[in-house]
Amino acid sequence: MEVNKELALKNIPTKASEQYRNFPMVPRVVYGNGSFDQLGDILMPKRKHSEAPMIFLVDDVFEGTELLQRIPAIFSDQIILISAEEEPKTIQVDALVKRIKDHFEETPSGIIGIGGGTLLDLAKAVAIMLTNTGDASAYQGWDLVHKQAIYHVGIPTISGTGAEVSRTTVLLGPEKKLGINSDYTPFDQVLLDPELTKGVSKEQWFYTGMDCYIHCIESLNGTFLNAFSQSYGEKSLDLCKEVFLGNISADESREKLMMASWHGGMSIAYSQVGVAHAMSYGLGYVLGVKHGIGNCLVFQYLDEFYPEGVRLFDEMMKKHQIELPTGICKDLTNDQMDTMISVALGMEPLWENALGKKWKSKISPEKLKSIYQKI
Ligand code: NAD
Ligand code: ZN
Repeated sequence: MEVNKELALKNIPTKASEQYRNFPMVPRVVYGNGSFDQLGDILMPKRKHSEAPMIFLVDDVFEGTELLQRIPAIFSDQIILISAEEEPKTIQVDALVKRIKDHFEETPSGIIGIGGGTLLDLAKAVAIMLTNTGDASAYQGWDLVHKQAIYHVGIPTISGTGAEVSRTTVLLGPEKKLGINSDYTPFDQVLLDPELTKGVSKEQWFYTGMDCYIHCIESLNGTFLNAFSQSYGEKSLDLCKEVFLGNISADESREKLMMASWHGGMSIAYSQVGVAHAMSYGLGYVLGVKHGIGNCLVFQYLDEFYPEGVRLFDEMMKKHQIELPTGICKDLTNDQMDTMISVALGMEPLWENALGKKWKSKISPEKLKSIYQKI
């Protein structure tokens, strides 16, 4: 019991009164190939009236595709195409909120994010910032949001991040890359239609899929592990192995990776990620390296922390003939390297999960530098 209580408190700063973390979960989920066509029926009862639109935030990779035609936009609804070229920023969220407020007198009936982690995170953040005052950057952290977000729906079109189930939306702000972690962040509705992931390139499929695999490895090998996280993490890991090392059909592979992502996200809800994520945050902050590929770039050199995980990762890379870019850190100035290291070491709960309470004696800036230099 004591262990659990400690775990509940140390993971992430939460309200002092909370002995055990009390998590909200996604209350409604639809699953199945073709389920996207049910979206209109799902949204109908959530429409406040014809002047309160549904706003669809859609990855612009779908521009000109039939998916846009299938979006059930009626009345004054708006479809906003957004590039996922860069990861979401707080100023981008503020600009979207302003645009929506300037354009409509009424608060929208809902926000629907359609895309990968980037679009899902944007949708969550915009839904929160439509009811909370000020700038999005003021809410980066834990439990700083006090007003309920507007109704928001997540529809992933690439699988792996777990952003569809998570209680956070990761944003790059003026000072830090940090999530808005709150009880109001999770989606009110998620729609899982594996067919939507059909157009993803092999490389991107692998990078985002490995985000899920690495969530499992870091959660299952962490000191915060508990039966709750383990049950989801093991299932997710089995699915990842089937997808990346087994011989299954493309249909099955899409279905299984979508569910692996879901379970992987649930697994880290009650534990934490680890070394790869901490170091990938550094890469993302200083060089703008994206989450999925950043995790892979780091993870390949983490065999001393995750020997079995890295061995399987190598097998997966070979099987799918993935070649990671090299020389990413070779032109870094000393200052940039120092920043990268301090951003990574600043992720304290991740290190504590990975290496235990005495993590500071087990890792050093020099050690991180030597790993970054290989990348
Ligand atoms: P992404 O959303 O950045 O998209 C990656 C690429 O895939 C983009 O070029 C996009 O246009 C393309 N794409 C998406 N769906 C496609 C489709 N069906 N067909 C063709 N191309 C498609 O990728 P991601 O890896 O899913 O998300 C990364 C983001 O997720 C990062 O910003 C990261 O911080 C965030 N993230 C959030 C959480 C969370 O819990 N909130 C967890 C992990 C990562
Ligand atoms: Zn991740």
